[in-house]
Amino acid sequence: MDPRFSLEQGTGIYTGNELIVKGALESQVGVITGYPGSPLAELFETLENNKDLFNEHGIVAQIANNEALAAARLNGSQMEGIRALGVMKSVGLHVAADGLALGNMVGASPSGGVLIAVGDDTWSEGTQVPADSRFLSQHLYIPVLEPATFQEIKDWIGHGFELSRRSGLYLTYLVTSNQADGGGSVTVYPNRFAALNRKQRIALDTSTICSDDRVIIPPATAHKEREVVHQRYPRLWQLAREAGINQILYPPSNGPKPLGFITSGLAYSYLEHALHILGLTGHFPILKLGITYPVDPHMIARFADCVQTFCVVEEKRAFIEPQIAAELARQKELGSALWGKRFPGNTPGFPDIQGLHPSLIVQTLARLFVALDAELPIDREKLQAELNSLAPVNSTATVPPRAPSFCPGCPHRDSASVLKKAAADLAAPPDGQAPIDLVFHGDIGCYSMLKYAPFSELMHNLSGMGLGGGTGAGIDPFIDNKQLVFMGDSTFFHTGMIAISDSIKNGQDITYIILDNKTTAMTGHQPTPGVDVDVLGKPTFAQDIEKAVAGLAGDSPTFIARMDPSQRQNYDALVRKTLLRDGVKIIIADKECGITYHRRERASQSANA
Ligand code: SF4
Repeated sequence: MDPRFSLEQGTGIYTGNELIVKGALESQVGVITGYPGSPLAELFETLENNKDLFNEHGIVAQIANNEALAAARLNGSQMEGIRALGVMKSVGLHVAADGLALGNMVGASPSGGVLIAVGDDTWSEGTQVPADSRFLSQHLYIPVLEPATFQEIKDWIGHGFELSRRSGLYLTYLVTSNQADGGGSVTVYPNRFAALNRKQRIALDTSTICSDDRVIIPPATAHKEREVVHQRYPRLWQLAREAGINQILYPPSNGPKPLGFITSGLAYSYLEHALHILGLTGHFPILKLGITYPVDPHMIARFADCVQTFCVVEEKRAFIEPQIAAELARQKELGSALWGKRFPGNTPGFPDIQGLHPSLIVQTLARLFVALDAELPIDREKLQAELNSLAPVNSTATVPPRAPSFCPGCPHRDSASVLKKAAADLAAPPDGQAPIDLVFHGDIGCYSMLKYAPFSELMHNLSGMGLGGGTGAGIDPFIDNKQLVFMGDSTFFHTGMIAISDSIKNGQDITYIILDNKTTAMTGHQPTPGVDVDVLGKPTFAQDIEKAVAGLAGDSPTFIARMDPSQRQNYDALVRKTLLRDGVKIIIADKECGITYHRRERASQSANA
């Protein structure tokens, strides 16, 4: 057990992921559930490393088969006063959306609370689609809470639960990559544990459940919509004001200032950094929003009294800015200019793609300061010196490109090598035989690296987690090619088995190679339903992929085989024979992940030394 997670006072150093866990421990969390994905995958490692603490206090920590099931767990937890924390990456929020939308409409328990910690990979360094979960949260009517500092990342877990239970709303707890992976020193408080937990159970009294409240189907939906927008949102704003979640920093003492900033989350920290570099700390009022959806109109009105011109500093597309514009228009304050993604003269403002950093803010502010014809407290010389220091450096050094690649001993390398050779042979057969052009549908896992050399011909498309077979279904009725998809064991349990069922139902001509490496490798080796232990080290039933697919296949002619892909010759023969058959074929490539294998070997060697 890591002693930092039992610290009761003083300061400790944590990563952003760890701070979410420590914040949950300080806030009587009852259940943490979700599905691992960057930038929040490390959070599950933190749970594993502290399993004794969690088990001792009966806190539930479960990796769900997928994010939709995690969302459903959050909903179920609100049948009682349980504080529930969901954890997922931005694309996981896509998967969870349905359950979260309904759960939020039904509402958080007045003695519980739901936070959905979502990790946004702002710079798209490890996520297949650009991440900005604020928009999806808004679509789901779920408010967005954005901590800015490391202290807030921890402490706002507790505030978030309070806001959730007292407003009756779920809250998206937005953390970006640099916050999750970065780290800092924070003040800690004692852990507080929930009275209702895995060890202290109760009998749920179903006579107290009002199904009209908990089961939302039309016509109740329209009523709930009204309640959310007209009652719960205003309640949330009031609670946020009381808790100081939205703050006006550096308010003017004698009349409005010519310029003020509206910002949130990490963009706030970057803005403060940039202003510090320019010697401008405290010179401009800043509206630091903790809740970026729905933006509190009262705070906008108060801030409008502080400044003549607004500039919104936010990462990615304008999300806060249109809310501010709409509110200013409603309050008839649009005489005061609003800048953000566009600057005076309709010139480009802050970028609407990817993220921000302090240097980028300095460079962008410089253009705004020049464009604004106002008395600003700018030290022009200092500004120019800073811009000079940020000017591109002429360099002849070139960095060799380096694509990601499978680890030594990786089982996927066995499968990929065999398929690469088989595909080449089938495409150029000996004289007289018709060539076969294999179509490879992509999926999500370590094997997404098939996209890169030397295996790039083994991935022709990508739809998302567990969707390789489904992508094949879109083209299968129109082509004669043999088709194939690689799928990991976690992906199989996430959504992949549904794709196999769909393929069998529709008579697709496709070979599934299920890479059963006994772990969720890509996100840091979390347990899967196929192993006999859970994230807290408790024994669980290990589900057998072969039996599961046999159950799906039933009496259909679906071909199923299992083999260790490192037996290259036999595996090669099996693959070639299988993919030429008609219909759905399944090969389970049974070999442990190279990393977990070598870790285990090293541990046993040192134990025996
Ligand atoms: S983590 Fe495991 S499965 Fe992933 S590339 Fe490395 S060896 Fe292969």
